[in-house]
Amino acid sequence: MDTSSATTPPPVVAKASTPYTRFQDTLKRVIGKIDMNDAERAFFMEPQHIHKKDIAVQLDNGTTQMLPAFRVQFNNARGPYKGGIRFHPEADEAEVKALAALMSIKTAVVNIPFGGAKGGVQVDPKKLSKSELQKVARAYVQAFVDHVGEDIDCPAPDVNTNPIIMAWMRDEYEKITHTFSPAVITGKPLSFGGSLGRDTATARGGFFILEEMIERAALDPDELKVAIQGFGNAGMSMAHFLHNSGYTVVAVSDSQGGIYSPDGIDPVRIEKYKRKTGAVAGEYCEGSVCDIQRMKIDGVEHITNEQLLELPCDILIPAALDNVITSENAAKIKAKYILELANGPTTPEADAILDRRGVSIIPDVLANAGGVTVSYFEWSQGRSGEQWTAEKVDRELKRVILDGYKSVRREARREEMTYREAAFSVGIKRMLDAMRARGWV
Ligand code: NAD
Repeated sequence: MDTSSATTPPPVVAKASTPYTRFQDTLKRVIGKIDMNDAERAFFMEPQHIHKKDIAVQLDNGTTQMLPAFRVQFNNARGPYKGGIRFHPEADEAEVKALAALMSIKTAVVNIPFGGAKGGVQVDPKKLSKSELQKVARAYVQAFVDHVGEDIDCPAPDVNTNPIIMAWMRDEYEKITHTFSPAVITGKPLSFGGSLGRDTATARGGFFILEEMIERAALDPDELKVAIQGFGNAGMSMAHFLHNSGYTVVAVSDSQGGIYSPDGIDPVRIEKYKRKTGAVAGEYCEGSVCDIQRMKIDGVEHITNEQLLELPCDILIPAALDNVITSENAAKIKAKYILELANGPTTPEADAILDRRGVSIIPDVLANAGGVTVSYFEWSQGRSGEQWTAEKVDRELKRVILDGYKSVRREARREEMTYREAAFSVGIKRMLDAMRARGWV
């Protein structure tokens, strides 16, 4: 069943908190301060299109599993829809809608010519074989092929999806449409139309902002301690950038928990054990059984993901899932700076508590915009047939992301807003200008 719809924004009614209502909380606070009429305001409250299908995937044991799949296209006033595809057991419509909305704000904050979208498949990819995973990827494209295209909507990787999956998806799209479409999907392998620097782009963009912020605050990286939740694409790359620049990474974690060492941990060593054992604590622990003696000698503690957030450190970097900093733990967070590499890690209630406590938050729509920025570079290279050098990608990423940071800082100062509100304000105003220019509103 395809329940695609071009939605006329319905009135917003109070309901239990979901990722989307949390997005709307911030949105409503900010659009109340922007000069726009009711019709314009309604445009921001709901996505333009919600596409949903149950995709059928035949498993290796011969049975067929139906998986709920989503593509939400929030707004394309500024350019083709753009946003990742997530494979996760908890991916649902509210989550994908919220992520699509954040993508629209994000592309506008860094001023790249895209709109915002997001995709998801409700599946646990850890339970699938490689061939089953490939079937899910191809079935996703078959389901949404009419809504995707180089000038229409360009997907990318997100949680639990990677360059190999993007390559399968591009291949499926080209097979169905009988086209050569290297720009239809970004985050592809280098050998199949990818861009240099895309694998580390999300962390690299966040790192550039952090460096600028630390310099402006006249702080010394050598004296700063950082805790990072999540050791995947975003978190692991960030740990390397920080460690190599003199910061002390005191803790990292993955879905199985983490490790903490006040004197600092070496991300190269952690990566080695993560690859070998599947866990960041793999050097010391097998499941929940840890070699306490060895941990004591090395000055390392095994911690939970909840404990990581409350550790003594200067900078906290959520780089895993959403909704982890809440009203329950916001008062216990000791970091003075939070850089949101994950999407939606902080609830609005936690935001307010942290703001009152003077904690500076670089919000997701700015902090992790490096990924979509280099996706834009990859898309441009796909369209032109050019291959940029790693130096050019790095230089252009730094320029684009720091321009975005500057716009947000200015807006925060001028409107006396938090950085999150200011980022939303910058993004919404740019989207509004484009919608007005098109005569939509
Ligand atoms: P990933 O799949 O590569 O890594 C996710 C990490 O989170 C893994 O280390 C995993 O073990 C850990 N994790 C999973 N469940 C957890 C839990 N319950 N508690 C703690 N850790 C858990 O994903 P990624 O690409 O690094 O994405 C991480 C976050 O960054 C997501 O919020 C994603 O939307 C956001 N993001 C990623 C990109 C990108 O280009 N990869 C771009 C923008 C935003």
